[in-house]
Amino acid sequence: MAAVHSTARGPALGGCRMWTYDDARAAVYDVLRLSRAMTFKSAVAGLPLGGGKGVIMLRPDEAVLTPERREAVLQDFGDTVEMLGGSYLTAEDVGTSERDMEVIATRTQHVTGLASGSGDPSPWTALGCHVALRVTAERVFGSDDLSERSIAVIGLGSVGGRLAEMLAKDGAKLLVADVDQRKRELAERIGAQWADPMTALTAEVDMVAPCALGGVLNDETVPKLRCRAVAGAANNQLADDAHDAQLAQRGILWAPDFVCNAGGIINISVELEPEGYSPERAKTRVQAIGDTLRQIFDTAAQGRITPLQAAYEIGRARLETPV
Ligand code: NAD
Repeated sequence: MAAVHSTARGPALGGCRMWTYDDARAAVYDVLRLSRAMTFKSAVAGLPLGGGKGVIMLRPDEAVLTPERREAVLQDFGDTVEMLGGSYLTAEDVGTSERDMEVIATRTQHVTGLASGSGDPSPWTALGCHVALRVTAERVFGSDDLSERSIAVIGLGSVGGRLAEMLAKDGAKLLVADVDQRKRELAERIGAQWADPMTALTAEVDMVAPCALGGVLNDETVPKLRCRAVAGAANNQLADDAHDAQLAQRGILWAPDFVCNAGGIINISVELEPEGYSPERAKTRVQAIGDTLRQIFDTAAQGRITPLQAAYEIGRARLETPV
């Protein structure tokens, strides 16, 4: 399924997630929520793009597809994208790869992030999150030097793994977690301490970077957090928008997820520019996430509102302004 939330600023761009859902309702809920987040992600980043998302729902009894089934399912998704006639542009997301995008591209031209274009968005998302962590640290601790910080990274996948490597290079004291025990190898290589995901989330650290799936900031976890700030890649970190106010009440600065993790889509947007893709231009654009986040924190402080409300304010103003 593909959801188009907004085309007010341009075609609705958003990755295709392949994931197991208990029923179709859960998958529809996810795709709609994710597509809305993409609208705000692109608008706040100032991109000439709308918000959309794709979900390929796997049944719990068929969570791993045979190569033939996977190919067929991806082709079907490609047909769905094609039917939307360019109002939705797809890309990779959790559970899909660059290779999967090549299969989808056999059925539609509305595919981004191919090796022949801007490629894998994950390193760019990691770069954007790294910038976001520095700006968040600057705001909370008065210095963006991450060598002084203890940071928990939850989810060591394409983004979280790279982010943890960058933070290790900065000299940050790292606590890392993943449900996949094979990721312990990375933890050892970068000299990070390993923990289970809940322990890492609620550890007494300076900052937490959620880089797995959404919903990690909820009624159960927010009261237990012992960090001063949260900034990471995972989409839809808040189980509910109200958790943003709860975080603020607890004195925890939350950098809105759709701002921190915009690096991938910013990189893709460079591919759609008339000059074509350039990694140098992409790097400059992704690093501008720092300026956007500073603007959000300033707007929030001046208006005595939360960073999420400030980000929505900026996003709504952009959605009303023609590109
Ligand atoms: P990925 O599938 O490569 O990695 C996810 C990692 O999280 C895996 O290692 C997985 O084992 C782990 N994980 C799953 N459930 C977990 C749990 N409950 N606790 C701890 N670890 C768990 O995905 P990714 O591309 O790195 O994306 C991570 C997050 O960032 C997702 O929410 C995704 O939507 C978001 N995001 C990714 C990009 C991108 O460019 N890849 C862009 C924007 C947002």
